[in-house]
Amino acid sequence: MNRRDWLRNSALAGGAAGLPALFATGLGAAAPASATGKLSPLKITNVRAILTAPADVRLVVVKVETNEPGLYGLGCATFTQRPRVVETAVEKYLKPFLIGKDPLQIEDLWQSSFLSSYWRNGPVLGNALSGVDMACWDILGKRAGMPVYQLFGGKCRKAVDTYRHATGETFEDVEKAARGFMARGLRHVRVQVAIPGLAAYPTKFLKPEDAKANDRTYLWEARKYVRTVPKLFEHLRKQLGDDVELLHDMHERVPPNLAIQLAKDLEPYNLFFFEDPFSPENVGYFGKLREQTSTPIAMGELFSNPNEYVPLISQRLIDFIRIHVSQIGGLTPARKVAALCEFFGVRTAWHGPSDLSPVGHAANLHLDLSIPNFGIQEARDFTQAELDVFPGSPELKDGYYWANDKPGLGIDLDEKLAAKFPINDDPPFDFHWGNLRGRDGTIMKP
Ligand SMILES: [Mg+2]
Repeated sequence: MNRRDWLRNSALAGGAAGLPALFATGLGAAAPASATGKLSPLKITNVRAILTAPADVRLVVVKVETNEPGLYGLGCATFTQRPRVVETAVEKYLKPFLIGKDPLQIEDLWQSSFLSSYWRNGPVLGNALSGVDMACWDILGKRAGMPVYQLFGGKCRKAVDTYRHATGETFEDVEKAARGFMARGLRHVRVQVAIPGLAAYPTKFLKPEDAKANDRTYLWEARKYVRTVPKLFEHLRKQLGDDVELLHDMHERVPPNLAIQLAKDLEPYNLFFFEDPFSPENVGYFGKLREQTSTPIAMGELFSNPNEYVPLISQRLIDFIRIHVSQIGGLTPARKVAALCEFFGVRTAWHGPSDLSPVGHAANLHLDLSIPNFGIQEARDFTQAELDVFPGSPELKDGYYWANDKPGLGIDLDEKLAAKFPINDDPPFDFHWGNLRGRDGTIMKP
């Protein structure tokens, strides 16, 4: 008898001689009593990765279908730089592992799926698992007739305060963009300015002549950037006053000692937070930063392994955790991160860029509503095409994200419409990552 046959026979035997019935549903044995009592047992019948790009950003959404007609869940699995490998992880590996199992056993599904590859963590497997995990929470909410935030303990606030990105080629451009957001009711604005001749983050306002189009290389000089940023904040505080909260993302782009200097130089401007002063490879510098400045620190969008973020939280070395929820595996682990942060006085600021599907934004929103130590949420406007493909997307009004009160995550996916926005594999979205270099050709962190 091979191992697979032994497992099957043991499961069918049940009880003390075989696998407990809880774990046997995928092997053909009788399903356990449903967690919802009188309702009939649920089984996963299909798991699909759906790729779409309604805003020209490659999104991956996972749909988990069940044996109850019309009952399915959606989850975000977007790793926009590598969507095809996430698709493979979902379709070829998680799907056969999950079919037949109870989608309401969310914690066990997460733990067993996490271990099912033996090698674990990382953005590919994390996002694939997140797609399933969020979808199962969505299914649980739909079955219970409650929004996911209610399953998490209910609302701690009426809506979720957000920040937006004000960028520009000059200080005046940034000021104008910030005023535009303030006029829309935003109380928090992230400010970034171009550096002439350099590919300052974000690169969308980089002039074509500044990029060497032939070899797609972008130029970067850390010292010039570090000299410019305090002058930007000096201008903005003079023009905008003290009431608006200002944020800045350094995007791990300068040597650690220069990052410490910049955090100190920005102290007079009273930032809401200063993001990603170090790369994940340099987290050992956080202790030295903390000793030298009171500027609030946010970190974590690139983290995927708990060993990267648990020490920063437990040693109180950061003020805001910036984890990309789908990267670490979805709502199940993110809730634990939030609880850990609560005990150490760290607040949340989940990553919320355009390369996160509206389903991922909805998941962030339900988490934000239900945790006491919520800090701020990075937000964006959805395009009309996204709103059409994803009915029920979070509503941005008066600077807040508002949840609808529909069961589950409150968001749906129009698959027929999504198919009209196929993802573009060529040219790749991420062409500028890995092409940022110094004048001598040295590669730089993105
Ligand atoms: Mg960032």
